[in-house]
Parts: sequence; C-alpha cells; structure tokens
Amino acid sequence: MKVLKFGGTSVGSVKNMSNVKDIITDGSKKVVVLSAMSGTTNQLVAIAKYIENNESNKAIDKINVLHEIYFNTIDELLKESLLNSEVKNYVSSVFEFLIESTDKDYTEALKNRILAQGELLSTFMFNSYLKQEGISSTLLPALSFMRIDEFKEPDSDYIEAHFKSAIDLAEDSEIYITQGFICLDSNDEISNLQRGGSDYTATLIGAAFKADEVQIWTDIDGMHNNDPRYVENTRAISNLSFEEAAELAYFGAKILHPQTVTPVRKDSIPVRLKNTMKPDAHGTLISNSTLGDGIKAIAAKDNITAIKIKSARMLQAHGFLKKVFEIFATNETSIDMITTSEVAVSLTIDDDKNLDKILAELDKFAMIEVDKNQSIVCLVGHSVVNHQGTYKLFKILQDVKIRMISYGGSNNNISLLIDSKDKINTLQKLNSYLFELVTL
Ligand code: ASP
Repeated sequence: MKVLKFGGTSVGSVKNMSNVKDIITDGSKKVVVLSAMSGTTNQLVAIAKYIENNESNKAIDKINVLHEIYFNTIDELLKESLLNSEVKNYVSSVFEFLIESTDKDYTEALKNRILAQGELLSTFMFNSYLKQEGISSTLLPALSFMRIDEFKEPDSDYIEAHFKSAIDLAEDSEIYITQGFICLDSNDEISNLQRGGSDYTATLIGAAFKADEVQIWTDIDGMHNNDPRYVENTRAISNLSFEEAAELAYFGAKILHPQTVTPVRKDSIPVRLKNTMKPDAHGTLISNSTLGDGIKAIAAKDNITAIKIKSARMLQAHGFLKKVFEIFATNETSIDMITTSEVAVSLTIDDDKNLDKILAELDKFAMIEVDKNQSIVCLVGHSVVNHQGTYKLFKILQDVKIRMISYGGSNNNISLLIDSKDKINTLQKLNSYLFELVTL
C-alpha cells in the first residue's frame, strides 16, 4: 500500500480536488494525507495573531470571510443535498469554535487548536466528495495516532501502534483519508509538526506500516536543480538519494518539509515527488540509490546570522571550541556552518531568538562580530568533493564576496555563506557555471 500526500493547492479548488480524485482512484488501496486548502493555514495564523493582540473584531471579520469562502466551495463541490448540508453543519461547528476563540485568553494551546482546523476542514470536505462520487473511503482522524513526545519529536512506536489500530477498524475501505500537519503532544493537547508538516505526516505514516512508496503531490514537477523563482531554465531532478534530498530540503528547497525523508530512510521506502497538474511527468524519485556524481542542485536558505568569534586564547589551546559550542547548546541554538582559523572561528545560526544571551556569554572571553541578513547557498550532489567538475563553482569568487565556505564536511554538500543581497546573482551565476554549457 502507498501513502499519497496532496498539498494545499491540490485541494485548493474544486477543479483540483477532482484531479486528486482521478489520481487516487486507480483501484489500489492507499492512504491519502491532505493539507489544508491553500491559504487557509495562513489565515488561521492571522486570526490567532489578532486574538493574541486583543483585536477580536479583526479576527471575527477574517473568520466570517473564510466561512463564506468555504460555503461557496461546498456548494460547488457537493451537489448531493444531504452531503452538502452534513458538511455545512460540520464546517459551521468549526467556524463557531473560531468565533468563540476570539473571546478566550490567548495561549499557545489555543493557537495550535486554531491552526489545526484547516486540515480538519479539507479532509472532511474531501471525504464527503469521494462519498458523493461513489468511492469507498474512510476518514482516519490523525489525532488518534499522530503524536509528538516532550522533545517535540514524533513518537514512532505510538504512531505505529495507533495507526495500525485505526486502519484495522476500517479494513474494507479502498481509500483512507487523513489530516497532515496535526498531532497530539505529550500532554494530549492538539499540536502540529510545524509549517509544511503534512509531508512529514506522510512519511511518518509510511514508516509506521512500511509502505511500498510515499508520494508527495504538489504543484511543481519535482525538486528543481535551482530556485525557479530566481533562475530561468531550471530542471526537475529525476533521481536523488536520501542524503541529497535531506540536504536540499533543509537548505531551502521549499518543496519539502526539512524532516520529510528522516522516517523512511532507515527502511529505504522511496519518496516520489509528483505534480498534481501534470500527473504523467516523472517528477523526482528519492531512494537509496544514487545516480550520477557531482553537483546536481543548488538551493539557498535566508535569514542566517553569522558570528565571528576571535580570541588570542584560541591559539594552540585545546577546549576552545568545546567552550564555544557549550554556550550555543545551553542556549538551545543549533549551529549550521562552521569555519575556523588559528585565532578565530566563524559560525552560522538560523534561529537568533537567544542571540543576545549567547553574545553576552561569548563576550566574556572573545571579540565578536555579527553579520545578519546572510544566506547559505548550498550545492548538493554525490561525491561532490571528488568530482572533476566541482572546480567550476569557485568561479563565483570573481562575482560575489563569499563570507564562509564549508567544503569537505560531507560528500553530498558544499555550502557558501553570502550576503542575502547577492543571493539572486549568486544563484544565477552558479547555474551558468555548473549547469549550462558555457565556455568561461
Ligand atoms: N497546512 C500546513 C501549512 O500550511 C501544513 C502543510 O500544508 O503541510 O503549513
């Protein structure tokens, strides 16, 4: 059995929902994970923000607009009158909950409950649509099996056991629909797997019952070899190894949640990225086989802060890096890139909420320089350090100022740190040096 996940655009209109229906009704049993309709989670985030800022009137206006959009979609989707009113009743109960929330004190738990409604709405509507079309489907509530522990990590034993019991209760069904993104936390409160988390839901479920394959359906035909928003003539990459995909997902190839491949890697369950609008296109297959050496893709991650820590005490001393790393660890901040010289170390972080505390501690024994608005440009592939074509990337030194280079940390990744204002130029130039046949 396969797991198929459809993103917000795939369920964002009646026409697209009908495409999804065609894709999933090929006669084989499958689990279908859905995101919220496109835009909904952003609207829910905005509603929660208004509640937090005590602007309930603004929240109520937004809720009413959204309510009307959902009712219009239901009228277009469900012509069968009983189903139409059943779904409208459910949807109204969700919007009543949202309206009531505007009167409550804002808490993180309330926000998470609000954010969960998008997936609850889309799955309820889509399951009813399948019923209308005579397709045998069952709604499996993700909150009955998806759970994170006290460290916010998925509780895989719990997920496996509870997913199996949920599916056992509805063995005859051809299609199992469930919500992406949402889960319970260790206190049984509603929580989520972070923005874009439906991809992660799909692979967690895939790992729970050792699926034959996990498919992530979006509105682009697979992972591209560069960012199509800034670079022309990018291409979908047909095959990636788990390692390559994990690097790309983390370093900004927005198409996948960064943790997506983690659950399926150990059992080598392939992940296929497909385009709902072009179902016949090959897309990208992520598996444990590696096709081809050298740099295959470029991605960039913004909002990076670089910190240079300089100290004469570092010269020929041991334990200096340990001391530095401990400061980041106790402030729960993870380090991404690192380069060193004999007297200084430069490193990057992408979460700067504890930066002031970190700097105050570093300041006690070192001189510090901080550069904000940096981007990591990451070049991903296989055997990148050994490949004879890799030298071409260094032509970029003639075009932009490189603040840091991380080379040799792994055979799958070379990273450059640049000022974010140089990002587009860097992506375009690297594209021509590495992927286009130009003589330079
Ligand atoms: N609806 C959630 C979001 O917009 C989760 C997802 O779509 O994957 O982040």
